Amino acid sequence: MATVECRDIRKVYGALEVMRDFNLKVDDHEFVVFLGPSGCGKSTMLRMIAGLEEITGGDLLIGGQRMNDRDPGDRGIAMVFQNYALYPHMSVRENITFGLERSGVPKAEIESRLAPVVESLGLGVYLSRKPTELSGGQQQRVAIARAMIKTPEVFLFDEPLSNLDAKLRGSLRVEIARLHRSLKTTSIYVTHDQLEAMTLADRIVLMKDGRIEQMGTPEEIYQTPATLFAAGFIGTPN
Ligand code: ADP
Ligand code: MG
Repeated sequence: MATVECRDIRKVYGALEVMRDFNLKVDDHEFVVFLGPSGCGKSTMLRMIAGLEEITGGDLLIGGQRMNDRDPGDRGIAMVFQNYALYPHMSVRENITFGLERSGVPKAEIESRLAPVVESLGLGVYLSRKPTELSGGQQQRVAIARAMIKTPEVFLFDEPLSNLDAKLRGSLRVEIARLHRSLKTTSIYVTHDQLEAMTLADRIVLMKDGRIEQMGTPEEIYQTPATLFAAGFIGTPN
């Protein structure tokens, strides 16, 4: 069961408080989008869930277990970044399988896990290429494949489409939605793009200045924005 629970999470960098009163429970199989303007703390919150950033205060639970001090590799999560973060000197195949090899997964099992992942993302013909020989959209597919092959219970996405042109953004968005449904994972997806949030989210967490401004289904936030900020950012002014 892959719920993600944030209880009163707080984050400071030195004297700067960038996150406070962050309370959220993401349900099993839910697709939650953190939406808000640049600098509001979306990446910081996601990185704390991933274990890439220390949590200053509060509790983080994944599947009901406290994760605050758990290593990123032991959280049952996989993350996809805006800049793909592929290893340039490795082939596509090596980029996808490297993590499993390092964890000592047997070769035969790696091969059997690789096949369906490659198939579902249409990467078969690119396996021996280097990332620099791929388009941005193809590189992001490789990054998604690398995340998928870990069979995570929770998928974290940090602006995965922001570096892509509009057409690719649309098609990859559809693929991410399809993967979320077919893999039955829990997904948390960060974006500053209202359209992405509206089309992907079961629930939107609208953020402003390091806290939650409003939470609800896309319809709820669009139809009944609670504040002027929410109305301006996503909804219809009422
Ligand atoms: P977003 O992803 O919504 O654009 P971030 O989470 O990247 O926002 O940043 C939130 C705030 O935290 C910003 O004010 C940013 O400058 C600050 N911040 C992020 N990372 C650091 C860091 N390593 N040190 C100091 N301040 C940081
Ligand atoms: Mg960010």
